[in-house]
Amino acid sequence: MPKYTLPELQYDYGALEPHISGKIMQLHHDKHHAAYVAGANTATEGLAEARAKNDFAKIAALEKALAFHTSGHILHSLFWQNLAPKSGGEPTGPLAAQITTDFGGFAGFRNQLTNAAMTIMGSGWATLAWEPVAKRLMTTQIHDHQSEMSQAAIPILVLDAWEHAYYLQYGPEKKSFFEAIWNVWSWPDIAQRFEKVRGLDLGLRGATDSR
Ligand code: MN
Repeated sequence: MPKYTLPELQYDYGALEPHISGKIMQLHHDKHHAAYVAGANTATEGLAEARAKNDFAKIAALEKALAFHTSGHILHSLFWQNLAPKSGGEPTGPLAAQITTDFGGFAGFRNQLTNAAMTIMGSGWATLAWEPVAKRLMTTQIHDHQSEMSQAAIPILVLDAWEHAYYLQYGPEKKSFFEAIWNVWSWPDIAQRFEKVRGLDLGLRGATDSR
């Protein structure tokens, strides 16, 4: 059975400064993300053990733990790769065109995503996701790591809005973090993710009147 593993960062802890401090990156990756990797593997093993014993008394708790930790692992893996030193700016090419189609322009998208992040109640993420039925980009506001995500929508950009993502540096001024992060989005990374998913066909005939 494959094990989840903690991916190495593709840049130094301090490479995203001054926007994200090296100390936050180190704790966030080495402690928080690592805990989700361990939790995903533990939940997977727990389900294997339940099957072996044919004892599913704890399956509801195991399924909840599996969704939480696996989603946490995948979102953090994506978040690190969505970011890069000396980046930011705006996307170009097909992703930029799709953002204009679906949000009226980059400014509308940026404001929508930032406000989604700002208004999460408790812990969660704001994402830019590809919804393959209507074939459009949408923002989503994920609670914890897994709740309130539209099924089948695939995140291509994720913004961690948990307090552990910014509090050490920004304290209660989370708006400053949600503004600063626009200086370190790696649009080439996000654009290549868009290219990977934009052709996905779920085969749900008649579920939309468009395209
Ligand atoms: Mn996090």
